[in-house]
Amino acid sequence: MSKKRVYTFGNGKAEGRADMKELLGGKGANLAEMNRIGVPVPPGFTITTDVCTEYNELGHEKVIELIKDEVEKAIAHVEKLTGTKFGDKNNPLLVSVRSGARASMPGMMDTILNLGLNDEVVEGMAKKTGNERFAWDSYRRFIQMYGDVVMGLKPESKEDSDPFEEIMEKVKEEKGIELDTEFTVDDLKGLVQKFKDAVKKRTGKDFPTDSYDQLWGAVAAVFDSWSNARAVYYRRLHGIPDEWGTAVNVQAMVFGNMGNTSATGVAFTRDAATGENIFNGEYLINAQGEDVVAGIRTPQEITLEGSRRWAKLQGISEEERASKFPSLEETMPELYKELFEVQRKLEEHYKDMQDLEFTIQEGKLWLLQTRNGKRTGAAMVKIAMDMYRDKFIDEKTALLRLEPAKLDELLHPVFDSTAIRSAKVLAKGLPASPGAATGQIVFFADEATKFEQTILVRTETSPEDLEGMNVARGILTARGGMTSHAAVVARGMGKCCVSGAGAVKLDYRARTMTIDGKVYKEGDWISLNGSTGEVYEGKVETRKPDMSGDFALIMELSDKFAKMSVRTNADSPNDAKVARDFGAKGIGLCRTEHMFFEGERIKAMREMILATTTEGRKKALAKLLPYQREDFEGIFEAMAGYGVTVRLLDPPLHEFVPHQQATQKALAEEIGVPIEQIRNTVAELEEFNPMLGHRGCRLGITYPEITEMQARAIIEAALNLKKKGVDARPEIMVPLVGTLKEFQLQAEIIHSTAKNVFEEKGDKIDYLVGTMIEIPRAALTADEIAKEADFFSFGTNDLTQMTFGYSRDDAGKFLPVYLDKGILKEDPFQVLDQRGVGQLVELGTKRGREAKKELKVGICGEHGGEPSSVEFCHRTGMDYVSCSPYRVPIARLAAAQAAAREQ
Ligand code: PEP
Ligand code: MG
Repeated sequence: MSKKRVYTFGNGKAEGRADMKELLGGKGANLAEMNRIGVPVPPGFTITTDVCTEYNELGHEKVIELIKDEVEKAIAHVEKLTGTKFGDKNNPLLVSVRSGARASMPGMMDTILNLGLNDEVVEGMAKKTGNERFAWDSYRRFIQMYGDVVMGLKPESKEDSDPFEEIMEKVKEEKGIELDTEFTVDDLKGLVQKFKDAVKKRTGKDFPTDSYDQLWGAVAAVFDSWSNARAVYYRRLHGIPDEWGTAVNVQAMVFGNMGNTSATGVAFTRDAATGENIFNGEYLINAQGEDVVAGIRTPQEITLEGSRRWAKLQGISEEERASKFPSLEETMPELYKELFEVQRKLEEHYKDMQDLEFTIQEGKLWLLQTRNGKRTGAAMVKIAMDMYRDKFIDEKTALLRLEPAKLDELLHPVFDSTAIRSAKVLAKGLPASPGAATGQIVFFADEATKFEQTILVRTETSPEDLEGMNVARGILTARGGMTSHAAVVARGMGKCCVSGAGAVKLDYRARTMTIDGKVYKEGDWISLNGSTGEVYEGKVETRKPDMSGDFALIMELSDKFAKMSVRTNADSPNDAKVARDFGAKGIGLCRTEHMFFEGERIKAMREMILATTTEGRKKALAKLLPYQREDFEGIFEAMAGYGVTVRLLDPPLHEFVPHQQATQKALAEEIGVPIEQIRNTVAELEEFNPMLGHRGCRLGITYPEITEMQARAIIEAALNLKKKGVDARPEIMVPLVGTLKEFQLQAEIIHSTAKNVFEEKGDKIDYLVGTMIEIPRAALTADEIAKEADFFSFGTNDLTQMTFGYSRDDAGKFLPVYLDKGILKEDPFQVLDQRGVGQLVELGTKRGREAKKELKVGICGEHGGEPSSVEFCHRTGMDYVSCSPYRVPIARLAAAQAAAREQ
């Protein structure tokens, strides 16, 4: 038997099914399914997505030949069910032609309505319906859509307006009218002629009169639309493969614009914004589909309850509402009841919130589409958990329904929904760290307490700004990408941040920022949305996240499934506590460098760096030791009972010294050395490529006394806590190892220091010594390193940097172009590059475990909180992922989903 390319449906029967989305597209599969479950759907047929692929390979002529017979039979099937005839002048069948891919691509491809009309058929339609205006208006709309989509009569350049709209505007002007609805029958007839003339003039072709010619043209146009620029762009944005292709749905037309017993609308089975279990939607009497969304008429609410809520928000009295904007429940109570039953049936059948389109033609209800409705994070959670509690879906289904990244919306403050509507967007940057923040502008980190609520605005931030960043409500930077200092630190703090807002121009001296010529001073109010990257003018009220019982339930279900545990990246007791409350089981990365910036610490640190002898360094380090010990005690205590991975000093020393003349002078005076000495040291520390320079374990190897001090602080802190009955579990981590010997030398210092401390204190604790795997060579030689290391933690930030050869700090300059040109599908600093970097992670894990079966393996790069990367870590067999505190719930859910999918 030859391959089946066309699938019919109608009158309660269908050749397709809901699970045939790959072949029939989402719309086609659901149209078939609705027929099967007894929902009224206008009859029609679907041409498969395979034909789209054939079309792209074989071209127009050959493909039409391939489907001709089947399409003719399918048309006959529709004719039979509707009692009409395609192309017949007395009793014509009109059809709609719509695209429908596997994944929904809203508005991305083209649609043609009222196909089958010509000069004779339109007269027949007028007679049959007794409504001449309706017939001619339908014809006018058809020529307009077909002329645009199939015959390519589009604006000639971006400055030009739509040629059809231009013709209509001219007629309106001549007649002194404003609305389409004011056209008379004669006007419409005139327009049809003018439209056809315009088509002929521009294309040299006559507008096709034969119904089948029209149909083949429309089918080809839908296939062509799969490759149009906006569809290609949408696919790239959402990772939809080009090979999928679109199906074509041809369906008998039903009309919502046949008078006052006709209507059209869209509805949701639950509230897509809040998740509330209430049926809702909008409709218009005597209108066609596009009128509801076109914004010319105000759509009315479907339910009475919804209508009353709407009126209240609009400040409209009940009297006015009931007379001017009544609900469908009031205007067509019987049809409303029927629609209500249908929506209930659909939700019960699909077991998910449905987004549906319907048309009422002269008192008869038809469904044109149903699909799983798009929803906010809050609605996603509420709907899944309500359905689970109602035993509508099981726990695994409920868990897999959730998009981990969207949990984020629930964890951070949000803008008050009414306040945000009237707020003015000033600029847009990258959504670096989610949440909403409002405050008064400050330009310097040490002035972050100048007002009660501040937004720190900087060109970019540096480690010196840490304290101010922590105090400010939000951070806005003019430069820097998603892994810039500001972005990474803000995410760690759970603080709202918009980075790289290029339109923001700063003048630190004048203490102003300028956006589009408008100047904002210190103390002016602005607001940031870190989830969208938007910057708003003025104060916009925010409210605390609503962490209802649903959230706890999701986490409980997650723990039932997940195989990996989730740790956090934290370097303060407070972050550790926040993360622990979110369910973190340990710290996977404590970056010790952040601890050197506060108050007196930075002084001692600078003294150490400026020391010219080992003795001098040791003296300064001795001052740092108690601070470090105190910091570790706080963190170990906050994470008592769980492992805490403390990483030895990692960044180049250059980051710790003052660069401005004034601060250099102050330091010189304070520690009693000439300013030249400071200037010289700063100059000496300057490196051409600091990220590949004197950093990581290279510091501990050249200055073993730093490692010694840090190891001592860690071990002493743990012993002090032991005395207090607190279970501290330190895991000391060596950064940036590339050879076994580097690790050995550092491990030796750690072990001998620990031994000394144990002897001095007459007590012991267990501790581990492991390494980061963040240099490609370490991954390749993981078998050697694993023999000596207790654990591996993949530092995928550096590993990505070094595998791609993209500087973490400069990639923002070219990554957007790379994404735009399709060289990369995603930013590899956000989403782990499984194909490339992933190989090193897999290989490192495999070789490491071959050498040491019990080797503990985790990840602590930014990817540890990104859902697709977490799934990869699960498949790789990692013991844990570690991420910033606010991503812990996301990682827990992603880890659970990865395990659930395998079941
Ligand atoms: C890494 O490189 O992935 C890492 C976690 O370390 P850092 O970001 O501090 O270099
Ligand atoms: Mg690193």
